Amino acid sequence: MKDKYGMHRIVGNLSNNIYVVERGNELVVFDPGMPSDLRRVRDRIKSLGRSPEEVSSIVLTHFHVDHAGAARALKDESGARVYIHVDDSPYLRGEKYMPSVYNAGFQGRLLMLLPGIVERYSGVPPVEADVAFDDGDVLPVLGGLEVLHSPGHTPGSSCFLWRDRGVLFTGDAIQNWGLLLVLPEGGFSYDLALAGRSAAAVVDALSDRDYTDLCPGHGPVVRGSGREMMAGFGARLRRMGKA
Ligand SMILES: [Zn+2]
Repeated sequence: MKDKYGMHRIVGNLSNNIYVVERGNELVVFDPGMPSDLRRVRDRIKSLGRSPEEVSSIVLTHFHVDHAGAARALKDESGARVYIHVDDSPYLRGEKYMPSVYNAGFQGRLLMLLPGIVERYSGVPPVEADVAFDDGDVLPVLGGLEVLHSPGHTPGSSCFLWRDRGVLFTGDAIQNWGLLLVLPEGGFSYDLALAGRSAAAVVDALSDRDYTDLCPGHGPVVRGSGREMMAGFGARLRRMGKA
């Protein structure tokens, strides 16, 4: 799928969204996905008449295998600069360990019954980020990507506002079930209460900003009505006492 902004969405093996964005010579990959998604990413880039070696930036919304798992291989191939929040960077370089599943939520409790299985499939090949960013930074990517730190799913989970295009990349901090924006599942989140507060804070921080589209880490892209959906989501979080 390609849209008018040169954005291409690839759905990975865990229904994770991978976004390839072209802007002139720039070739940016948001969340390259699982190690096993790499072939799909390379094929898509080739289908655009480009080479995977041309990837200039790899922007990570957070440290999880279905988002960051292919980062090292893609960096090795392209020399692209890797961006991740400073609070997730020690996990990405393999210096700190983050469990894949927590004993919370339905999926978490279920997966806790299968010790070892999840860990076997959740290893992220370590890579040193070139840029460990923080809240409020504007990354020199696609003319300016504004960072909104939204911790809770992981410590460094972050959203990015592509200011030129009014597109908000939310990673797993805010997911899309189709008609409804939702928080991530508790079993895969280190602090779900914090994730709720963070999501509401992102809605508030962008309340007077111009954006229309949402690119979530899971679920379909929202076109046109992104800001309205976010406002509704923020109100729902407050009603539920999660903000
Ligand atoms: Zn995640």
